[in-house]
Amino acid sequence: TLHSRASWSTDSEDSDSSGAECLYRVVLLGDHGVGKSSLATIFAGIQEKDLSDQEKGEDTYERTLTVDGEETTLIVMDTWEAEKQEEDERWVQDYCMQVGNAYVIVYSITDRASFESASELRIQLRRLRQAEDIPIILVGNKSDLVRCREVAVEAEGRACAVVFDCKFIETSASLHHNVQELFEGIVRQIRLRRDSKET
Ligand code: GDP
Ligand code: MG
Repeated sequence: TLHSRASWSTDSEDSDSSGAECLYRVVLLGDHGVGKSSLATIFAGIQEKDLSDQEKGEDTYERTLTVDGEETTLIVMDTWEAEKQEEDERWVQDYCMQVGNAYVIVYSITDRASFESASELRIQLRRLRQAEDIPIILVGNKSDLVRCREVAVEAEGRACAVVFDCKFIETSASLHHNVQELFEGIVRQIRLRRDSKET
């Protein structure tokens, strides 16, 4: 049902019908194990231990945030890693690359390979969605694991975001640090683009 609501928002994006234009799909990208699902469940306001079996199968979460006094509904899609066969995964990944209104590219600060994957994902997105100015946020997760850090904050994380023309934030899903800020940042990026189109 979330998928059908999501596609309905695409049709209404250009219209002024009240409410409808405030629904946006945010797709989480990144290597296995970097913390995508952890970030998504924090967004959804679910504690891991509270997840029912049915909810564990869910990978799409909808929540309305009030940011700067205005409500915006985000549909966060944690669908990048399909659990089934490889052919399925390709289809799902192509789909993910096409449907996002905004993207969160996650790496782990303790895993250099995941940082390199993040750059590749940014390049892939740029190629596939060239004509569009989509908000992208690069996220260095697991910032609590200071002793295992492999990717520097300023010299690498932030510098990479500058090169790739996207926003940057470090988060810790474990400590819930900067997670709220991450999703609020996405809402602000979406609004900036919306507002500049209106004028
Ligand atoms: P996904 O494969 O990208 O969805 O990653 P998960 O959300 O499943 O997380 C993979 C593992 O990393 C799990 O064991 C999480 O508990 C752990 N993890 C996720 N985020 C953090 C974090 O910010 N700090 C630490 N220390 N561990 C984390
Ligand atoms: Mg996951």
